[in-house]
Amino acid sequence: MTTTRIPHYINGRRVLGRSQRTSSVFNPATGEATGEVGLASSAEVNEAIASARQAAEGWANTSPLRRSRILNRFLRIAEDRIDELAGLITSEHGKILSDAKGEVQRGLEVVEFAVGAPSLLKGEISENVGSRVDSYGVRQPLGVVAGITPFNFPAMVPMWMFPVALACGNTFVLKPSERDPSASLLIADWLTEAGLPNGVFNVIHGDKEAVDAILHNPEVMAVSFVGSTPIARYIYGTAANSGKRCQALGGAKNHMIVMPDADLDQATDALMGAAYGSAGERCMAISVAVPIGDRTAEALLERLEPKVRALKIGAGTNPDVEMGPLVTRQHLEKVRAYIDSGVEEGAKLLVDGRDFRSNEGGYFIGGTLFDRVSTDMKIYKEEIFGPVLSVVRAPDYATAAGMINDNEYGNGTAIFTQNGDVAREFANRIKVGMVGINVPIPVPMAFHSFGGWKASLFGDHHMHGPEGVRFYTRLKTVTTRWPTSIAKGSEFVMPTLS
Ligand code: NAD
Repeated sequence: MTTTRIPHYINGRRVLGRSQRTSSVFNPATGEATGEVGLASSAEVNEAIASARQAAEGWANTSPLRRSRILNRFLRIAEDRIDELAGLITSEHGKILSDAKGEVQRGLEVVEFAVGAPSLLKGEISENVGSRVDSYGVRQPLGVVAGITPFNFPAMVPMWMFPVALACGNTFVLKPSERDPSASLLIADWLTEAGLPNGVFNVIHGDKEAVDAILHNPEVMAVSFVGSTPIARYIYGTAANSGKRCQALGGAKNHMIVMPDADLDQATDALMGAAYGSAGERCMAISVAVPIGDRTAEALLERLEPKVRALKIGAGTNPDVEMGPLVTRQHLEKVRAYIDSGVEEGAKLLVDGRDFRSNEGGYFIGGTLFDRVSTDMKIYKEEIFGPVLSVVRAPDYATAAGMINDNEYGNGTAIFTQNGDVAREFANRIKVGMVGINVPIPVPMAFHSFGGWKASLFGDHHMHGPEGVRFYTRLKTVTTRWPTSIAKGSEFVMPTLS
């Protein structure tokens, strides 16, 4: 099979990388190498940033309405050709096609939000802050901003960032995951087709070298990152040291409490989708189920176990399949090693995904279900990022909530119950950024903001929604008066304007 060389996108066109370093891109369903992506040198990254820098002033001075119209055209193109983008995602990531389409759809909702930029950017004004003196605040773009994104949502996570950044008048440099880099190029083509001026949106592929070049380039004013916690911590520290604004979203370990009064059939269905959808490679996946009391645990597992065994696994292009392969061979080995460690540490393995056999040659693993997991085990403490659900039994609600609050991560969590008091207590007191009440994956809509707490987010702004607009703009406050209100002579005391 021939592999294609995957280019960067700089100044409105695709350009092949010049660096000697490359990385292979695979079809996870077959294990075949399908592409070779150039890993950019610092010099190439700096060229992409220079192109964004050159476009910055013109784009910042383009009226918000014009900027919105371009994004609106992009939205229509993407909606018309969603199958093409979803197909590309499935071919490099492995997730099933319907899920890939869902990811694009959720991303496009952020474009729909960003199209409202003229209204989002409206400032505030106070008349007569002093005698015939007025004051107003406006939010202005930062200039060049960068996004560094993970493999698991190659279209949606970039779309959490660039629509809002562009709508606010910034220019953008995207460094996507080198494991599934092609979706970003199709997005770049469509933005140009929609009328985006050259240089406003650039894509540079690479690894740590490219990321470090972004972090150390003084022209980059802000960095948005989504990925694992160790890298998020590094990005946040390094960006802050370089004087850049930064939002760095990290990993997760999301718990779902199942109360004794919950509808267990609904809870089971919810757990199946939330734990095994996209082979567990979602930052909002539920990886820990916490049934309250042994009776709830037994009744839940009785329903869950046969469904996990019956999961339909195969290539994401097969419409009958529910779960595709993992993203790479290395990741498959890592997930298998976690299952080994769970067994060694004494968890009860009810369904063993290592038994799954496929003729397709890809990075497949079956759904895995552990019971009697305890909080000192590695499979509880670390993010597995695979189709492995751990059941940790808790005697009561307080113990379960304490466990979630003590967890290092705080991305998402859910409770299944019919009791409004318990649900309210949970929503009010749990130390997690995104909370679901009978909703297993509570991803906020585009007009709200997405982000976790604790080791799941470094920085203080969540993504998209109102927080995104604040992140990608800076406030300027102007105080004005005109000749008739100006007193004669100089004033040497602190002006009070009253
Ligand atoms: P990753 O941290 O390995 O990579 C993310 C990005 O960082 C990629 O672009 C990668 O090229 C770059 N990178 C990798 N190593 C680097 C290094 N040493 N220095 C600088 N840059 C480096 O993450 P991943 O495996 O692509 O994605 C999975 C992770 O992302 C999971 O931990 C998942 O929970 C997390 N995630 C979090 C959210 C969220 O909203 N909190 C959303 C999606 C994914």
